[in-house]
Amino acid sequence: MNRFVVPIILLLLATACGQKTETVNADDVDLIVRCGVMINGLSDEPTRDQLIVVRQERISEILAGNDPSMADAEILDLSEHTCLPGLIDMHVHLDGRPEDADDYTIYLRRTPEDTQQLAEELAGIVLKAGFTTVRNVGTYKAWVARDLRDQIEAGKVEGPRIRIAGPYLTIPHGGGDMYIPGIDDSEIPDYYRMGVARGPDEFRARTQEFVAGGADFIKVIASGAVFGHGGIPGAPEMTFEEIKAVVEVADAAGIKVTAHAHSAESIKDAILAGVSSIEHASLGDDESVALALEHDVAFTMDVYNGTYTEEIGEAHGYAEEFMRKNEETTEAQREVFRKSLDAGVTLLFGTDLGVLPHDMGTRQFAEMVKHGMAPMKAIQSATSAAADHMGVAGDVGAIEVGRYADLIAVRGNPLDDIAELQDIRVVIKGGTIVNRQSEQATTGAHTE
Ligand SMILES: [Zn+2]
Repeated sequence: MNRFVVPIILLLLATACGQKTETVNADDVDLIVRCGVMINGLSDEPTRDQLIVVRQERISEILAGNDPSMADAEILDLSEHTCLPGLIDMHVHLDGRPEDADDYTIYLRRTPEDTQQLAEELAGIVLKAGFTTVRNVGTYKAWVARDLRDQIEAGKVEGPRIRIAGPYLTIPHGGGDMYIPGIDDSEIPDYYRMGVARGPDEFRARTQEFVAGGADFIKVIASGAVFGHGGIPGAPEMTFEEIKAVVEVADAAGIKVTAHAHSAESIKDAILAGVSSIEHASLGDDESVALALEHDVAFTMDVYNGTYTEEIGEAHGYAEEFMRKNEETTEAQREVFRKSLDAGVTLLFGTDLGVLPHDMGTRQFAEMVKHGMAPMKAIQSATSAAADHMGVAGDVGAIEVGRYADLIAVRGNPLDDIAELQDIRVVIKGGTIVNRQSEQATTGAHTE
């Protein structure tokens, strides 16, 4: 890569006026990205004309300027684009598609190999859609996300960086159990029910197994799922004592617990039992919002998903029960979102990919802004704030020297029009360009 040597030295001479002249060993430069506008995920203000130098997958320098001496260098020229950090979705499922909710017996026809293959395919889709890091908050098939993560880290599969929960911790026939009306539990393979438990002792034992299995965090289903047969979102499933037993084991292992909870009572139980984040939080009340603030518990709310389910559910043949529960939780959740935002609760980007098609995650940004969030805060909820919560801020979540060169780019400025994030043109993970829309292919999507 010697061709980079001259331009970099020129650039530093030009931009480091008055300071000591540095020479850069450019032999190991993987990529230089020129950004017209840069939103780095940390600052509330964007900057113009930045050059990002990537070495060994990480950002080694960020240089101000748009030096003409760079014009002939081999760089990725995004001077007509806005660069942002690779996005983080805190609520992803990589072992199923929305259509699976048409009829859960598909899980009985899928072999473990089929599921692994599906997960690999979905991982590629999620990455190309701009999410370079995800928190996989559970799979029905135990440990499929862990195996997928290992394949990605080994370079055998293309996908995002993944943090994994163990299997869903849930009560029998609760929101995380593979319960299918008309099918006896004995016909469901064991690997779909590894986190089913009742009583604090059983939940403690399951959690210990998941910690031993290498879970990065633990997920509990505190109260009923919209897409689960039989449960009622507004009714608690796990008890306070059961959630507390899980948290104690996780605490001892130094990992966090996230709770899927719709009902106000479950949200409060989960917060008081010591979880770190709540998913959905659709039917929260003022008291649960105040408790979240007091205990520094974050909410991840899938405020766009309800619209998608409403639009396609009937044509898909979703159960009437799912449609009704979706209706009961969608607008209610948006109200809680607004209240939580006003109260100052930490809101992390968590559109439920799995319920929403895996290439549609960024649609949630517009819904967040529509319900009162400033565009920059919405972006930070999917970048630096999410990375902080997961304890991975040294690696991802911002365009900053030292972190991985995980970047995305859009054509316009999402601070002016957040919907720009629905049209991500470039995705870079660890300095490797994994998706690049050609201008020809996308002409007409936006006119400027
Ligand atoms: Zn989910």
